[in-house]
Amino acid sequence: MLATILNDLSIQYSVTIEYASEVNKCYIAGRTISIGNYSNPEFLLISYFHEIGHLLITREYIERWEYNTLQIELECWHIGIEEAKRNDILFSDTAIEFGYKQALTYIGHDERECSNWGEKYGKKLFIHK
Ligand SMILES: [Zn+2]
Repeated sequence: MLATILNDLSIQYSVTIEYASEVNKCYIAGRTISIGNYSNPEFLLISYFHEIGHLLITREYIERWEYNTLQIELECWHIGIEEAKRNDILFSDTAIEFGYKQALTYIGHDERECSNWGEKYGKKLFIHK
């Protein structure tokens, strides 16, 4: 049943699916979605929709958020969940929590990736302690 759903969705979004062995991970490159090894089919499907989010997110959004990885990741989960709803697929709170927790791994990502981050963005930070 899941294979049929994925097949129908992939025709709809013009994407190709390939399967990988990594646990609980999906990637998208161009229009190819690589799906890892999931023991929970709902987690697989919500992750698939997250990758569809990467496909649908606009350049304008990414530029407005200055390529902030965490913000983009969160938005792709949001887009994916909305897109699933448009296909009459509703996820459980557990699956949504699984998804957004993946985004948590990106906290601090941009700071680490960009050597002059402090000089570029530091002054814009407003942190309550
Ligand atoms: Zn992502």
